Amino acid sequence: MLPNVPGNLITGLCSGRGWVMPNEELGRVLEMPVSCPHCPKYSEQPVAFVINSEKLTCPDCKETIDLTTKEWVAFRQKFRDALNELQPLYKQLP
Ligand SMILES: [Zn+2]
Repeated sequence: MLPNVPGNLITGLCSGRGWVMPNEELGRVLEMPVSCPHCPKYSEQPVAFVINSEKLTCPDCKETIDLTTKEWVAFRQKFRDALNELQPLYKQLP
């Protein structure tokens, strides 16, 4: 854990190919279910991992889950923006 991360790290930036993840504290502790398009299963993935990844491997069928479709890209971008807004509020929680 990083107990004292400066607040100025909270600036969402997209640099070149990859996403800069400025808020990995919250993103790392949050998990979300990702449905596999190849089998009926879903897996819980850390939000930061989903936002920063272009593909996942399904733990059940070992197929690749493509996160570069326009739906996923839009979702990941929104989620990243939301985390950017939530992170400072999260830090203020008692
Ligand atoms: Zn699968």
